[in-house]
This record gives sequence, structure tokens and C-alpha cells, in this order.
Amino acid sequence: MGVAGSAHDGKDVGAGASNRILVINAGSSSLKFALVDPATGRRHLSGLAERLGTDEAVIALTADGVPDVRTALPDGSHDQAVSAVLEAAHRLPRDRQPIGVGHRVVHGGELFADSVLITDEVIEAITRFSSLAPLHNPAALLGIRAVTALWPELPQSAVFDTAFHQTMPPRAYRYAVPEDWYVELGVRRYGFHGTSHRYVSERAAELLDRSPDDLALVVAHLGNGCSATAVLGGRSVDTTMGLTPLEGLVMGTRSGDIDPGVFGFLAQQRSMSSQQVIDVLNKASGLLGLSGATNDMRQLQASAADGDERAQLAIDVFDYRMAKAVSALVVGLGHLDALVFTGGIGENDARIRASVVEALGFLGLRLDPDANDRHGRDTAGRISRDGQPTALVVRTDEELMIARDTTRLISAR
Ligand code: ADP
Repeated sequence: MGVAGSAHDGKDVGAGASNRILVINAGSSSLKFALVDPATGRRHLSGLAERLGTDEAVIALTADGVPDVRTALPDGSHDQAVSAVLEAAHRLPRDRQPIGVGHRVVHGGELFADSVLITDEVIEAITRFSSLAPLHNPAALLGIRAVTALWPELPQSAVFDTAFHQTMPPRAYRYAVPEDWYVELGVRRYGFHGTSHRYVSERAAELLDRSPDDLALVVAHLGNGCSATAVLGGRSVDTTMGLTPLEGLVMGTRSGDIDPGVFGFLAQQRSMSSQQVIDVLNKASGLLGLSGATNDMRQLQASAADGDERAQLAIDVFDYRMAKAVSALVVGLGHLDALVFTGGIGENDARIRASVVEALGFLGLRLDPDANDRHGRDTAGRISRDGQPTALVVRTDEELMIARDTTRLISAR
């Protein structure tokens, strides 16, 4: 079934024609979407389908700021979710319909250093890299296939989380393991959150009124998943996540760095398989594991303020490991012009930022407490006192980056 009569199928490109891009972020059991104007970043349609793959699947859609009712998706499939989104897009006047679709794809291996228009070869490569991202890449493929089936003439792009980090030098991306693990299996550090790190580093350069070409930044993306990246001259030179998004910083439910000896130890002590250990490290560790209560930083801060020692410990470990990782990333830069905070925690949690900036005082960072409490709102993001380096808060916008990439690729066809 195709959705006929789209804005893209005619020759109506020109004055008044739509420039909107439908951005789809398909996870294993959810699908986030937004119809984005790449020039302004405005969302004309957005929403979330959840609990896909179950008989409780629902979709919630907001059109031009007005929330719609939640609608059940009786067969619970990604196809049905994409179909609901495309039908809603198709109900818009022609000059507001999408001219392309941008998909977030987690893993692009070593093949993709940039976003690409989707072809059969690209689909084959995303399928191949599913072994490296078994939950995420297959979900992206479901989204791509559903759009192809329903609106085949719409150009689609793949925007990879790993692409921005393909500029890392071997000294940063190689693990000290036997060569054949790398050559035959691709065991190396890839890094993730690349779309956010790229957007935020470009925006930081604008806010600092500097050319990205001569800036040395560490970008800390702190959400449920957390990673920090060293960006030199606009290119990623090192990052905290590795072969998978489990490496690096303490996260909501993920452990971050841990001695790989834990696998043998738990096999011996508790007869746990490697898959069981991995599941615990992914889903029951991090802030949740340490606090025993929650992966939500807001709740942890409230509990810590009420004297909950485990919540306080979770925050302390999070902050300490984060500051340690930032200082290690500066080694790859040689010097630091700015530390940039983004993501739900990075943009909103003044206490975490204060603690990290204070721990990094030896790099010359000096917090401006008032600017920090206002999340850098009246200071073009700046939360540090005058002088070098600067600390900044920048709101991330991965969907806008995906929309812009898709527009660029469609225009260059
Ligand atoms: P995701 O990685 O799923 O996109 P987000 O970037 O939305 O997640 O980040 C989620 C995290 O941000 C949660 O730990 C949440 O508690 C935290 N967060 C959101 N708002 C605040 C706030 N005002 N203060 C502290 N933490 C916050």
C-alpha cells in the first residue's frame, strides 16, 4: 500500500513547497518521530509509539502543539506504528507533507563516516552491523522497510550514531587485544551519541563565536545513556563509549567501565552466563544499581537531599567518574577550550555540573554559580567565569541534525 499523492511525487518543488523531514528513531519496543522543519527546527508533528511487540502497543501524536488522544495499535508492529505516522503526515496539506525521511541508525560499523541516502547496499550493511547492535539496528530496519512499503517514492536517509567518531585515530579506537579480533570481528571502539556530539559541538562554536576549526572541546552528553567526546577542530578524536554503548561513564542503568574480569568471577561465584552478566550491566547497574532505587537523576537528587546515603553515593560515583573521564579526554586534545554539557542531566542538573566543574578546577575551569543555576540561559550557555577554559550548557537536538542531514543529501542527489 503506497500513500499516493505526496508532496514529493509531483514537480511541485519550488516556492511554497514543503521542506519538512520526517525523523524516525525506532527502538526495539518504541518508535519516536517528528516532522521537522530543517530551517527553523520547528516540529509540526511529533510523538511516540510505545510497547511495540506487545498487545498493549499505543501511539501518541502531537500535531502543531496540540496533543492527540493515544490510539491503540492492535497488531503492535513497527509497520502499524509507521503507518499511523505516515497517515497523519499524509492528512496534512501538500505543502506541509514530508519530502524525505531521516532514520536514526545506531551502528554503521567502519563503513559510514557520514549520513547516507538509503539504498539496497546501505540496507545490507545495516543488516550486517546488527551483530554489533542487536537491539537497535534491526529496529531501524523495520522502520526503513515500513516507510518503503507505505510511501515508496519518499527518499530516506540513515544517520548513524557511530559516524561522527570515525575520525578517531587508531590509538583511541583500538583495544589492546589480539589483532585478529579487530581484523576478523571488528572488535574496536566505535563510540555512540555521535549525532548529538556533532550538533552540540557545532552549536558550542557558534555560542563561543569561534570557528569550529580551532576549537578543542569536550562534549558531555548526559541523559539515560551518557558519553563524553573530545572534539578537536570539529572532529571526534576520542570518546568514552566503545564497541557497545556499555563502556565509559556511569549511566542510568549501565555500569560504564568495569574490569572485564567480572565475567569470570561471576561465572565462578554465581554460575552466571556472559549474557546474564551483560544484562545486569546494561539494565540493573549504573545509578539504579548503586542507589537500589531509581535511574532517574531528579529522584536521586531529591532522595540525597533527604539524607539517603545510597542515592548520594550513586551521585558521587557518577560525578567522580565523569570528571575523571573528561580529564582523560583532554589528553587527546592537548588543551581544553570548553567543556560542554548536554542531555537531560547535562542541560538541567546544576548540582552535577557544579560538582564536575569544581573537580576539574586544575584544568583552569571556574564555575559561575549564578549562571550555572540559570543553566546558562542569559549568558549564551556560559556557566563559568571569564577566562579559559569555558564551561557551557547547550541543548541538544538530534532530530534537527537528522533533518538537516537528510535535506543536504536530498538536495545533493
Ligand atoms: P534519554 O537519554 O533517554 O534521551 P534524557 O536526555 O531525557 O534521556 O535524560 C534523562 C535524564 O535526565 C534522567 O536521569 C532525568 O532524571 C534527567 N533529568 C531531566 N530533567 C532533569 C532535571 N531538571 N534535573 C535533573 N535531572 C534531570
